[in-house]
Amino acid sequence: MTKQYRITLLPGDGIGPEIMAVAVNVLEAVGQQFGLTFELTEALIGGAAIDATGGPLPDETLATCKASDAVLLAAIGGYKWDSLPNDIRPERGLLGLRAGLELFANLRPAQILPQLIDASSLKREVVDGVDIMVVRELTGGIYFGQPKGIFATESGEKRGVNTMVYSESEIDRIGRVAFETAQKRNKRLCSVDKANVLEVSQLWRDRMIQLSADYPDVELTHMYVDNAAMQLVRNPKQFDTIVTGNLFGDILSDAAAMLTGSIGMLPSASLGASGPGVFEPVHGSAPDIAGQDKANPLAQVLSAAMMLRYGLNEPEASDRIEQAVLKVLDQGYRTGDIWSEGCTAVGCKAMGDALLKALAA
Ligand code: NAD
Repeated sequence: MTKQYRITLLPGDGIGPEIMAVAVNVLEAVGQQFGLTFELTEALIGGAAIDATGGPLPDETLATCKASDAVLLAAIGGYKWDSLPNDIRPERGLLGLRAGLELFANLRPAQILPQLIDASSLKREVVDGVDIMVVRELTGGIYFGQPKGIFATESGEKRGVNTMVYSESEIDRIGRVAFETAQKRNKRLCSVDKANVLEVSQLWRDRMIQLSADYPDVELTHMYVDNAAMQLVRNPKQFDTIVTGNLFGDILSDAAAMLTGSIGMLPSASLGASGPGVFEPVHGSAPDIAGQDKANPLAQVLSAAMMLRYGLNEPEASDRIEQAVLKVLDQGYRTGDIWSEGCTAVGCKAMGDALLKALAA
């Protein structure tokens, strides 16, 4: 029996349409192998939506996304829209999408692929085998807490204020996503906080400990954020899954990602409590190489793999895509961003063809 999934595609701007085309071909090929049918609907976001409708996230796009099982997004933005006022810039489309779908959990994997190990700025022996997932809380914490603002004091001096706040329910929902993510990986979860100084972190730690009773197969540990920053560059292999708040996660997920050294390879997922998640590469729309068949489509393809694993619960199909990516790298195919001496330079389309061959083999 074939299973049917409704997927909204948001190719966006710049290299978005090129890398999305590759991911769609890969999805369809893997779907045939695993008896999955994808009903694909393309919708507008970012600059493309501004040009067509005047705004970066048309109501129709959000409605289409809400009615689907998962959303596959490429990237938005470009020089053309850089001078627009903030509230109608392409980036607003992304923020609107995250808010509209209530995506509170951001999953950012950082995996060192053996074929690209020399792209890392750290020593081979430090990064060889690194496979980390950072689960970051996305809609709470100090970025949204009240009060916030710049206020004048009685003495006339200005005071800038932000508030780090987490309620038990906010901690519990990100905690559950993190425990369930760890269950799909190596079953080790490290909760990162600053509980030695911050009360909000003490509550965070208490709730994580409480939640762990429901996930006896996952080993929970705790680490202060300053130590976590140090350990990520000293001995990153000790980590499997990391869960942390919005501010700490913003910083640590970028640090973890850079262990891999190659932005064209990094996928991500943003999930809500129910409803569709959004799966997208970490990189932007790369306007400097758009339309030249130079883009690396692998982060987009790996985002489709994340969609299958974390959005549609189809781990075998996801594995198959990840294996195909490893295979084309083994065969020496490289786009310009990851090319090194002795490898075969290919463009976006040829990388897509190589992936389809690897899947068919
Ligand atoms: P970028 O990630 O688009 O590009 C940074 C550099 O990496 C560029 O030299 C680019 O050519 C290269 N690069 C990125 N992805 C690549 C790929 N798949 N293959 C090969 N090379 C790749 O970041 P930027 O230049 O700071 O931003 C460009 C535009 O993208 C801006 O409008 C920005 O607002 C937007 N942006 C969007 C997102 C998103 O959609 N989530 C994220 C970041 C930036």
